[in-house]
Amino acid sequence: MVRMKKQKNIALVAHDNRKKDLVEWVVKNKKKLAEHFLYGTGTTGNIIAKETNLPVRRYKSGPLGGDQQIGSRIIEKDIDFLVFFWDPLEAQPHDPDVKALLRIAVLYDIPVAMNVATADFMFSSKLMDQEYNRYIIDYGTRIKRKY
Ligand code: PGA
Repeated sequence: MVRMKKQKNIALVAHDNRKKDLVEWVVKNKKKLAEHFLYGTGTTGNIIAKETNLPVRRYKSGPLGGDQQIGSRIIEKDIDFLVFFWDPLEAQPHDPDVKALLRIAVLYDIPVAMNVATADFMFSSKLMDQEYNRYIIDYGTRIKRKY
């Protein structure tokens, strides 16, 4: 069990063809987003910071390892919420990293929005203003190790 605080640590990531949608969503939700801590991959973070003046802690650009950095922050329990508008119409050079990030988000029971509607539903949840216990599967008991 991991306790999420009222103030969430939200990672914002968008592939190039989805950046416009994400920026519009952030602008629409700017007031509420300002109550939380924001993180982003390099280019997405730069654009959001420039367009909204919200403080965004920026990692490397996605193709240079930014998705992996965000995944590692999830593992360390420093990021607990992900808005990731990935591109369903174009393969990315870092497709394995995208898959890895989504896998880690599921493993650590992180809320993930991959399109505008999901982000809207998640963000209008009353849980956004509350603490929440995330359930993390105990793989130690599930995986039978040989050694
Ligand atoms: P970017 O990376 O914000 O640096 O464009 C996003 C991604 O491709 O995962």
